Amino acid sequence: MGTPPQLTPQQREAALAKAAASRKRRAEVKAQIKSQELTIESVFALAQTDDAVGKMRVKELLESFSGVGKVRAVAMMERLNISPTRRIQGLGRHQLNELRQEFMKPDMAIRPGRLIVLSGPGGVGKSTVAKQLRGAQDFWVSISATTRKPRSNEVDGRDYFFVSDEEFSRMIAHDEFLEWAEFAGNRYGTPQRAVEDALRQGRNVLLEIEIAGAKQVKTHLPQSLLVFLEPPTWEELVSRLEGRGTDGAERRAQRLELAQEELAAAAFFDVVLVNDQVESVVQRLVELAQN
Ligand code: ADP
Ligand code: 5GP
Repeated sequence: MGTPPQLTPQQREAALAKAAASRKRRAEVKAQIKSQELTIESVFALAQTDDAVGKMRVKELLESFSGVGKVRAVAMMERLNISPTRRIQGLGRHQLNELRQEFMKPDMAIRPGRLIVLSGPGGVGKSTVAKQLRGAQDFWVSISATTRKPRSNEVDGRDYFFVSDEEFSRMIAHDEFLEWAEFAGNRYGTPQRAVEDALRQGRNVLLEIEIAGAKQVKTHLPQSLLVFLEPPTWEELVSRLEGRGTDGAERRAQRLELAQEELAAAAFFDVVLVNDQVESVVQRLVELAQN
């Protein structure tokens, strides 16, 4: 091998900038594959004119498709005799055709995501579980609209869309909710469009909502799975509500009274999970979504 060419500092800087732009472009393409904006065919087409895409490793490309993942990508490449370091622009015509065939097999077709509705008495740990699931792969957690005022640790657009009473009424009038309900003096609703889009893209969706709303979802979408979260004991529920420190004494008493009624609703649900450990509840929800 000859010695590498000597680069001036400007040339080195330009080369580094080009490499960074290529990485960014590949990350964009992978995100578009994940959200199903791009098919394997459209990536092959892009790779002919876009050098950054052409240089993407086949392994990275395959792993980006939801439902393929690392293990299946490696198995597919071994079966088709594609070396682990091969880039898209290095694929022969025959290999391109074989990959196209793989993606036409029925089990590669997009399966709509699973809709899981998590409900249970206030203070049982629903939002704690939902927060953890937000980071889980292939899970999308819906963000509700509410007329409740934000708590000090809450962020608009992350925890809720905090809206005025007038805006909430407008959303009802325009049929923008999959369900909505009143709870402890405020209104809460699930924006329908975002949920439908996520399901269509094959993502599993979690709604963390109260019981009346959960029942409405089951009526509209019978394929949804209603999961009821129970506290290990009543005392533990009381202590969690107190420990959270977000409600004054009067509001807490109101929420506990409501919780007694809410606990009786478990029988209506498809699955009951006891929230003793947040991690094991999260694990169970991921398993339920895969079934
Ligand atoms: P919800 O959304 O059902 O009203 P939160 O998620 O706000 O309930 O949880 C209420 C309180 O209980 C919080 O302080 C939270 O940290 C705590 N908590 C949640 N899950 C558990 C658990 N498995 N063990 C102990 N504490 C928990
Ligand atoms: P919090 O005020 O404690 O955030 O929520 C109060 C209750 O409203 C909780 O039981 C929560 O699950 C529920 N909730 C949150 N978003 C929605 C929603 O979009 N629809 C319904 N029906 N309930 C919701």
